[in-house]
Amino acid sequence: MENKERFLDANIPDEMTTSIRPKRMGDFVGQEGLKQNLSVFINAARGRSESMDHVLLYGPPGLGKTTLAHIIANELGTNFRATAAPMLTKQGDLAAILTSLEPMDVLFIDEIHRLPTAIEEVLYSAMEDFKLDIMLGEGPSAKSVRIDLPQFTLVGATTRTGLLSNPLRDRFGIDLRLNFYEPVDLAKIISRSANILGIDIEPGAADILSISARGTPRIANRLLKRARDFAAATGAKSINSDTIKTTLFQLKIDGRGLDNIDREYMTAIVKHYAGGPVGIENLSAILSEPSDTIEDVIEPYLMQQGFIQRTPRGRIITDAGYQHLGLEK
Ligand code: ADP
Repeated sequence: MENKERFLDANIPDEMTTSIRPKRMGDFVGQEGLKQNLSVFINAARGRSESMDHVLLYGPPGLGKTTLAHIIANELGTNFRATAAPMLTKQGDLAAILTSLEPMDVLFIDEIHRLPTAIEEVLYSAMEDFKLDIMLGEGPSAKSVRIDLPQFTLVGATTRTGLLSNPLRDRFGIDLRLNFYEPVDLAKIISRSANILGIDIEPGAADILSISARGTPRIANRLLKRARDFAAATGAKSINSDTIKTTLFQLKIDGRGLDNIDREYMTAIVKHYAGGPVGIENLSAILSEPSDTIEDVIEPYLMQQGFIQRTPRGRIITDAGYQHLGLEK
């Protein structure tokens, strides 16, 4: 159950997400190099009174791509419009959004690697020349029309740049990668969220939580919420180390932030494929999880922790991975 929640949660903002989502660059914790560069680009665009160049944000779910897109609009002082590629099924869907933009607006397209090719092609001239080329009608009477668009900034988010076509990727002038957060930054995020939500959490407890949150702010915030539930269940006024330990134990999350599905994934490679290499489709069949969920949600953190490697012949478990599972090679 908790695993499923981890996947679903990626797309469903709850009331908590909106209230604790940082709104200004100064509130966005960590990712220092990225923030510095982005601030330079934002200030330069403001100074020139021009729209900022298009931005591509990439990294695993929950690291702050949507949050940064909001922040870009706030810092530029413009409107924020958001959509997600799976919602754009016809050229007209995108045309309707583009023609309703006001000058300098930020348009955020989540999961941009999932845009159908025909819609992606409409974006090319929109991004490059602020023109909309669109076919009206069908068959012999069809005609192409060109509409002027206001200057705007497209912010695209993707979990995998590898799936983006070259022509689309080339049209982003700014390309920013989000990395997993260090525990020290996650601890700050947890304290900040607790503060906003009026939850009392002891510093030592925030530290323990920060190392079990998969380097991911969204997961840190969700675990904080669960810990609040466990504290309430025992009548505790504040969250202490014991509350966190109970929460992690009940949700079957280990000291490195791995949950059941992570361990099932690693154990499958060891048990069925003698430690690998094994292809993604086989793992997908064994775990009954779509391969893109495995690639987007499970593998990046396991790789970052050094428990698995992706090789040209497939996935393998590393020595550290065996050790973590407590298994002999
Ligand atoms: P993504 O779009 O990459 O999936 P989000 O931007 O939706 O991730 O972030 C998930 C949640 O984590 C947000 O609700 C936000 O509150 C929190 N968050 C993400 N990055 C940060 C950060 N750097 N500082 C504080 N909170 C953050």
